[in-house]
Amino acid sequence: MRQPVTTARAATPSAPGSVGDVRKANLVRVLSVIAAATEDQRLSRADIAQLSQLTKASVSSLVADLLAAGLVIEIGVHRDGERGRPSVGLILNPTRCVMGMEINVDYIAAGLVDLNGKLLAHEILPRTNHGSTASEVLTALGELSQTLQEAARSQGLMILGGGLAVPGLVQEDHFTVLQAPNLGWVEQNLDVAALLPEPKTRFRLFNEANASALAQQQLMDGQERDFLFISGEVGIGGGLIIDAELFIGPQGHAGELGHVVIEPDGKKCSCGGRGCLETIAGQEAILATAGLGDGTDSASRQERISQLYQALQSGTEVAVNAVAEAGKSLGIAVTSALRLYNVSTVVFGGHFAALEQWLRPAMESSLQDHAPSIADQARLLRSPLGQTGALVGAARSVVGDLLEAPYQLVD
Ligand SMILES: [Zn+2]
Repeated sequence: MRQPVTTARAATPSAPGSVGDVRKANLVRVLSVIAAATEDQRLSRADIAQLSQLTKASVSSLVADLLAAGLVIEIGVHRDGERGRPSVGLILNPTRCVMGMEINVDYIAAGLVDLNGKLLAHEILPRTNHGSTASEVLTALGELSQTLQEAARSQGLMILGGGLAVPGLVQEDHFTVLQAPNLGWVEQNLDVAALLPEPKTRFRLFNEANASALAQQQLMDGQERDFLFISGEVGIGGGLIIDAELFIGPQGHAGELGHVVIEPDGKKCSCGGRGCLETIAGQEAILATAGLGDGTDSASRQERISQLYQALQSGTEVAVNAVAEAGKSLGIAVTSALRLYNVSTVVFGGHFAALEQWLRPAMESSLQDHAPSIADQARLLRSPLGQTGALVGAARSVVGDLLEAPYQLVD
């Protein structure tokens, strides 16, 4: 996590609020300076004082709190040409981390992300979650979490919190999945306490596409403050970043591109509607159009997806056409999104990223057909995130919360 916390400003004793508030703001200020440093830049207390515009005495006192909270550590630094005793630099504590987790339709995943936002370890376990109750899936995820907790212990890592991403609409405050049609869940309260006993900071719940969009944001050029992330799995999700912030709308449902209507008289959709993008470009829809079953036969979805790639590689017309049809529909949905949100960058992940070479030509020509005046400015980017995107995004958000409120860990 190399982005400075831009909202924090050096507070002075004359700033409104109590002394406690001033100290809190200054802790954030000092930590954001340390977090924004590059890997080879080990800042001394004097460097931090200069960058944070705080006095050296204040910085020393604030750093003492951050050291006691375990958020930063001291490290010996030899600067170029220097001999003798190394000077002392400060870095984010590499032994503190957050656990990111994901429940998707065909797998569960968990991983450890350090305070720099780097994925240290992860496990992805194939599992058919549709048809399982939330408590059954959470039990399986709890076991996966245990494996990662043991890995953390053996490497001397301390887990400070957790984030969980699910493919559905969530109400974060109550750990409720309001609707996850591809899991078959409606109004499910998640007992997240069993996933990560006594995390030092709060646990957060995310929509999968929103979490992936947040992970993607870390990979974007700093100038790229607005984009739409489209996540293709069995369902299709969308995450909208506007002015470098996740935009979720008043009820948290913004950016749900999978349920934008493409064919008003089309097939019934898992959302209860009809003709949504998901009914044409979701994994099951593409497999069915490619003649690879409708999910009721004995072959697993993974086997059918392998068959799809074999058919695409060998140029089998029905498979190529199925993906082109998905690309065309995706282009229509993206056209509407670009018009509505006035973004020009769209990043596609999940199976859309894997299908890029067959999907992109149809998507681009669809954009040209439907929006010739803006198609040339549109940037369609393939996400490199793969299956760890959502868990990394969820964990990084919790790390971000921690760096913006370090006083939670300061006694
Ligand atoms: Zn729908």
